[in-house]
Amino acid sequence: MLRDAVRSLAEAKIAPYAAAVDEEARFPREALEALVANDLHAVHVPEEYGGSGADALATVIVIEEVARVCASSSLIPAVNKLGSLPVILSGSEELKKKYMAPLAKGDGMFSYCLSEPDAGSDAAGMKTKAVRDGDFYVLNGVKRWITNAGESEYYTVMAVTDPEKRSKGISAFVVEKSDEGVSFGAPEKKLGIKGSPTREVYLDNVRIPADRMIGEEGTGFATAMKTLDHTRITIAAQALGIAQGALDYAKGYVKERKQFGKPIADFQGIQFMLADMAMKISAARALTYQAAAASQRGDADLTYQGAAAKCFASDVAMEVTTDAVQLLGGYGYTRDYPVERMMRDAKITQIYEGTNQVQRIVMARNLP
Ligand SMILES: Cc1cc2nc3c(=O)[nH]c(=O)nc-3n(C[C@H](O)[C@H](O)[C@H](O)COP(=O)(O)OP(=O)(O)OC[C@H]3O[C@@H](n4cnc5c(N)ncnc54)[C@H](O)[C@@H]3O)c2cc1C
Repeated sequence: MLRDAVRSLAEAKIAPYAAAVDEEARFPREALEALVANDLHAVHVPEEYGGSGADALATVIVIEEVARVCASSSLIPAVNKLGSLPVILSGSEELKKKYMAPLAKGDGMFSYCLSEPDAGSDAAGMKTKAVRDGDFYVLNGVKRWITNAGESEYYTVMAVTDPEKRSKGISAFVVEKSDEGVSFGAPEKKLGIKGSPTREVYLDNVRIPADRMIGEEGTGFATAMKTLDHTRITIAAQALGIAQGALDYAKGYVKERKQFGKPIADFQGIQFMLADMAMKISAARALTYQAAAASQRGDADLTYQGAAAKCFASDVAMEVTTDAVQLLGGYGYTRDYPVERMMRDAKITQIYEGTNQVQRIVMARNLP
């Protein structure tokens, strides 16, 4: 029922704008409005904090169905989870009450600020600092590649509180867009997910109350990594949705397109490609849903499962979307058809929330 409801909404209210959002590289405002109106923008927020209390699998299904028509728009529910999960996992009751209610109501989105210009895969090498000053912390630094920066009201920011201790000297904070000293860089000009703004976040002497710290001092990096264990599964869901969208489009096209006097769907070479695409998507979906169940239960092997699902589903999305372009021939290579956008959008799923090389390192360290 959830899938049917999200699919109908996505096809009616999000899909019609997907090409324009990509072409104009603009935030998918229509999608945000439709998602908020239907309580689908941050479904993971627990009921006790005013949310819908969707479990990890339901959240995955929402993201998958939105991504099937518009990958940029699927980053609204996905990044709301990524940005706010540190608070849900490790924040005080006061922080949860204060920030989850506006998120659930649709009054403010959440972003996640881990990466920096010189700290990507090696995120613990970050330089942003938070220095205690009485009942306050003062933050200085630059966060890079921040999804929905400028659009979000709230930012989970990881910063160094003790430079001697490397990852154990990193703490997490909630920073608000309206805090003095917060500003944003120009939107990055990207290959895909052009509707999702990616900007730098500048923190220039941002003075925030000490109770905005998420958990204890020095636990921020552990919280950031624990968050990714759960949210990599949402990137797997995004990848899965993109791949399914490409397969669905190609399936229809091959029945219409005629060459050599018959629909190209009649050629076995085409049929085998479609069979392989469907098979890979089925495998990615099984892995993703299994990981979502592990996330919900808090299984001991979640780190492995999240990395495996993200890595596998994103590689499948890249293969399937590339094959979809192939199935449409020259037409697939143009912006008159949606599969080239899907191919460009798929690429990011192999890069963010840890590149697929990093996922393989994570899996190797946590073999089941
Ligand atoms: C559109 C977009 C949105 C993003 N959104 C966010 C966000 O909201 N919040 C956030 O915090 N970050 C975000 N990121 C950042 C993203 O997570 C990083 O780009 C990613 O982790 C890789 O870091 P990097 O770009 O510095 O690449 P690098 O770490 O410089 O990696 C370059 C290459 O080296 C490889 N590599 C690095 N180390 C190793 C190793 N040990 N072994 C083998 N290969 C290795 C990588 O796999 C990659 O192929 C986003 C990025 C993009 C492009």
